[in-house]
Amino acid sequence: MAIKPYHYELPLDFNQPSHRKAMESALREVKEQFGLSYPLLIGSERVDTEKKITSTNPAHPDQVVGFVSKAEASHIDQAIKEAWRAFDSWKKVPAADRARYLYKAAAIMRRKKLFLAAVEVYEAGKTWAEAEGDVNEAIDFMEYYGRQMERLGAPVPLTPLDDEDDQAFYVPIGVGAIIPPWNFPLAILTGMTTSAIVAGNCVILKPASATPVIAAHFVEIMHEAGLPYGVLNFVPGDGGTIGDYIVTHPLIRFISFTGSREVGLRINQLAAQVAPGQKWIKRVVAEMGGKDAIVVDETADLDKAAQDIVTSAFGFQGQKCSACSRAIIVDEVHDVLLNKIVERTKKLVVGDPDNFNSQMGPVIDPKAFEKVHSYIQWGKEHAHLETGGGTMDRDGYFIPPTIFSDVKPGSKLEQEEVFGPVLAVIRARNWQDALAIANDTEYGLTGSVFTAKRDRIEQASDEFEVGNLYINRKCTGAIVGAHPFGGFNMSGTDSKTGSPDYLLLFMQMKVVAERF
Ligand code: GLU
Repeated sequence: MAIKPYHYELPLDFNQPSHRKAMESALREVKEQFGLSYPLLIGSERVDTEKKITSTNPAHPDQVVGFVSKAEASHIDQAIKEAWRAFDSWKKVPAADRARYLYKAAAIMRRKKLFLAAVEVYEAGKTWAEAEGDVNEAIDFMEYYGRQMERLGAPVPLTPLDDEDDQAFYVPIGVGAIIPPWNFPLAILTGMTTSAIVAGNCVILKPASATPVIAAHFVEIMHEAGLPYGVLNFVPGDGGTIGDYIVTHPLIRFISFTGSREVGLRINQLAAQVAPGQKWIKRVVAEMGGKDAIVVDETADLDKAAQDIVTSAFGFQGQKCSACSRAIIVDEVHDVLLNKIVERTKKLVVGDPDNFNSQMGPVIDPKAFEKVHSYIQWGKEHAHLETGGGTMDRDGYFIPPTIFSDVKPGSKLEQEEVFGPVLAVIRARNWQDALAIANDTEYGLTGSVFTAKRDRIEQASDEFEVGNLYINRKCTGAIVGAHPFGGFNMSGTDSKTGSPDYLLLFMQMKVVAERF
């Protein structure tokens, strides 16, 4: 199979009637499948359990998108056993052949793109564009990691010695646990799972409990592409019940996690303990939260800044770890820009995500709804509410886009991750003050700077403490291969997904030095 150079998937224009019709028909198709059951996959066995996760539509919580079997400890033991069994042969499959499974799965996903996007509309509450973007990114990850593995499959270049044949190559590390989030329920899950697999490892996948149906479709696609059974085992379940069991299991070699700071730190701590029978230091890859800021100075294009702040703050209801949750604006342009941001935000259409016109949908579940509202309550008491802040007279977990101004640096709303449609606007005295406020956080994931000044761009490149810094553009929407993605400090291990280095996290280098 000849492999074309990697190119990321381009978004569809749903204003085109043919695409719009195709999406409407995909939404109907998914609706017809509401209430189906999805089993575990352990080795080649599909296991239907009595206890199920009920996956509901956050826009209409009485609609059941699907029932997904729940794994218990004994299923985890079995899945880990099957994964190790499969590892014996999978690790010997040449890198280029492992990559082929990813290319085929990517092709299947491309064919099913709108169906998968429609599942996300109903299961995650994503608007059409956000849902399609997520499927595109999942395809990108497979196309990109496949090619990276082909590169890394070659021997490592070494300095030649006289009279010795020295070789170095990357080998997989074993069986790992993949614990992805619900917010990019296909893209991040696919990236985390297929990177580990293409590197030659076998995995057990525990999807987020809010989005297990899209995860089940992913697992089917991988096997439709011919992936040998046992390489990928599917074990949904309650994080609270089986999460610790998985992480502390002596036969788990690595844990790849994306989610909250709280859970990430817990995993890191548990994984550091050595269980009886365990013969390695577990590797932990943990991508966690953000309290991302967009800094705007007096030389910036304010219309562009307003547009990108609104997109970064409220895309997918602010439920991105990359979301702009702080707009830090210098005093000179603060009031003008705030006004522009508020005016744009008021025009956002919040509604059922399966409606083409909706620009924002619900937050994911009742817990998120409560949590976001507690921050809104705090904002009402300690800052100035500019727009939003209320509830909507309908079912579902809808929260209108909310903006608070006069948020004080160092205060709760300025420091804690809300993970919802709430933007804190902070007034800075000047550019230096704005940058200092932006850096005064324990997180360090994304950030943007809007300025026309070259020296400030240079200063931000050096001093803005984030893994992903954007200049004069939004701080969300990293593209696989173009924007390696991952954060500093409490945002995680800066694993840089979609980068040439990412697969190395799931491999180790072996050196063979032979005298002859
Ligand atoms: N990669 C996504 C972006 O750049 C964010 C991922 C996340 O929220 O976990 O917007």
